Amino acid sequence: MRIIARTAPIEQPHWQEILASAIRSGDELLRQLNLQDASLNISHQAAKDFPVLVPRTYLARMEVGNPLDPLLLQVLPRQQETEQVSGYITDPLGEADANVQPGIIHKYDGRLLLITATGCAVNCRYCFRRHFDYADNRISRRQWNASLDYVRNDSSISEVILSGGDPLMLKDSQFIDLVDAIEAIPHVRRLRIHSRLPVVIPQRITPELAARLAASRLSTSMVLHINHSHEISPALEMAVAQLKQAGVTLLNQSVLLNGVNNDVDTLQQLSENLFDAGILPYYLHLMDEVQGAHHFDTGKQQALQIYQQLHARLPGYLLPRLVKEQAGKAGKTLILSNNSEIS
Ligand code: SF4
Repeated sequence: MRIIARTAPIEQPHWQEILASAIRSGDELLRQLNLQDASLNISHQAAKDFPVLVPRTYLARMEVGNPLDPLLLQVLPRQQETEQVSGYITDPLGEADANVQPGIIHKYDGRLLLITATGCAVNCRYCFRRHFDYADNRISRRQWNASLDYVRNDSSISEVILSGGDPLMLKDSQFIDLVDAIEAIPHVRRLRIHSRLPVVIPQRITPELAARLAASRLSTSMVLHINHSHEISPALEMAVAQLKQAGVTLLNQSVLLNGVNNDVDTLQQLSENLFDAGILPYYLHLMDEVQGAHHFDTGKQQALQIYQQLHARLPGYLLPRLVKEQAGKAGKTLILSNNSEIS
């Protein structure tokens, strides 16, 4: 029987209180799960380089006493992160070149990414932005206006993607102001929100936030980031239901991660459970070759083997697209189950 660390309280605290009480050390994480360090090789240096941040609502989805828990492995700082491995670099997607001005990454035609927050509610150890220069992209209100001017001045931009960090780290009032400003730009038709916050703290989807999105003239989608079906909680399902009621399209992107979800049964279950929760599987990413995360990389051959099996098991609408993001390419590279690629 799966014993989880803690059941969710009936009276839920506000999401910012949950965030404030997040776990910030690997030792504390292990203590909460009754685990010893010996087999897990936690590293204080890794935690210094990229801090530990794990909300207790996410901890509650982990299995007590299981050192291989797929959620724990995503957030535990381990010794492998400190190894230098050839080919794993600090900016694997070449985002520095596309960082056209503070707060904006403009890589693809017709859409751009606004960096609206410089932190997340969870620090995922494999994150491709774990070395991103957030200090240079810390955005004041004035810089927000400069970012919005950039969008205003380019009429080819029909979609604005809010990213970060995590854009839902903004308070509701700030987030709503931003939506107001984007909505006032006539050529913008779509708003996309990339967020892992509703997964780790589902209470982030407040009635105010949902109401503002419901009232928007923009076609709005939210791309969640869920790697394992254990991350789908009843509270997340409630948050998703609120968003769907607000007219938001819910999609999911996962990263294929060694030890977390690199087997066909796990990915099949993930797709099926996502769909049951009202979320469409969208992308399955090959891991970006970021320094400090080589131990999560399955390599392309294993990814393809798993994907071919997944292709055989799932109907098309449940099959996420296997993709790789590559520096300098005009879009994601789509990897087909016969090992051909479309860039
Ligand atoms: S939530 Fe996303 S951006 Fe933030 S640490 Fe995790 S993978 Fe990186």
